[in-house]
Amino acid sequence: MKIDNVSQLLIILALWLDEKKGDVLSSIWLGDETLKSLKQKFPHEEDVPKLLLEIKSLITREPDCRRAHYLGELVSSLEFQCHLLKGGTCSISEFYEQTFKYPIQRVSNQELEFLEDEIKKTEKEFGFTRWDEPCTTIDQFSKNIFLQKLEENCSNVQDSLPFKVENGSFSYEWVFQKPWRAFNRHNKPYHSHIMINADYPVTQFDLDHLVFHEGFGGHHTELNCKDLLLLNEGRGEHGLWINYSSQAFVSEGIAEFSYEMFGLKIRKNPIGKLHYLWYRLENALGNYACFLHHEDGLRREEIKQLLKKYSIKPGVIQSWLDFVTDAKYGKYAAVYHSAYNAVAKSFHRAKDKKQWLYTTYNQPTTPSLL
Ligand SMILES: [Zn+2]
Repeated sequence: MKIDNVSQLLIILALWLDEKKGDVLSSIWLGDETLKSLKQKFPHEEDVPKLLLEIKSLITREPDCRRAHYLGELVSSLEFQCHLLKGGTCSISEFYEQTFKYPIQRVSNQELEFLEDEIKKTEKEFGFTRWDEPCTTIDQFSKNIFLQKLEENCSNVQDSLPFKVENGSFSYEWVFQKPWRAFNRHNKPYHSHIMINADYPVTQFDLDHLVFHEGFGGHHTELNCKDLLLLNEGRGEHGLWINYSSQAFVSEGIAEFSYEMFGLKIRKNPIGKLHYLWYRLENALGNYACFLHHEDGLRREEIKQLLKKYSIKPGVIQSWLDFVTDAKYGKYAAVYHSAYNAVAKSFHRAKDKKQWLYTTYNQPTTPSLL
């Protein structure tokens, strides 16, 4: 795959750092040949500052301001992660600000209580609570439903977008003992490998939400759109996923917001509002659990007791506990709540929704460009 000089250097740094730290990248879809040749150019540790300067200098010569801004934020996140590799320390808030380029804050008690109250009111209105919704372990039946929903979404999402999207293809895997509930590994252009963690029980709504988050409308659609920048313009930065970066923040925001943007409209589910609120509370509690663990130093059992006060199922509590205490990805658990809020706010504020959709899905976007 042909990629330009500035992105080659950025990817060499990201690959080198990932080899040292193990938590920097989760997907690369540049092809084995490109990857092999980039890995042959790994720097010696003492030459990393020189490599950083070289990348920054090339970014100043990039004529597309939007791309230059995006690359600048990616390299800044990698530079901060190099600092951590050398033993640097920071607070959780500083970590988020320096990597995601967004000041992720601890969710307030008022927000948690507001969501809890809204849920109680709405459940009363519909005469249906979250405990009434059947919850099963992942079996053949739920697997088939997941695949069927994924298929249905393909044309539905396309019809809702004001531009043409490459549908691409998927492969699937049902996995166990992972810290996350599902994962999209985009492993070649226009192709996503979706992994669903079969350890946690799911409801029909969870499957619906996962389909949008990982598939059409969410990660698969967005990454397919940006694959065009990789293939047509040689922008290699769109051929890998840097976990703690502004790229990941925006992508998670789009994926979380896609259920609201497309799912509620397409499904016309009368209890859609309730589903929406449940998910907002779950993500807010993911943020809460993350800060309780990484800032306050609370352990699993103590966090569990605090989460149990809210309308949340034991399976969801379990999944957040596994996520936030994971050595590699634990700090990532707070991203969904803030990223959804930032993307939703930007969408609702935009006067021209079609333009917003086009830009956010097809152009490099960071939290500050939302
Ligand atoms: Zn995601």
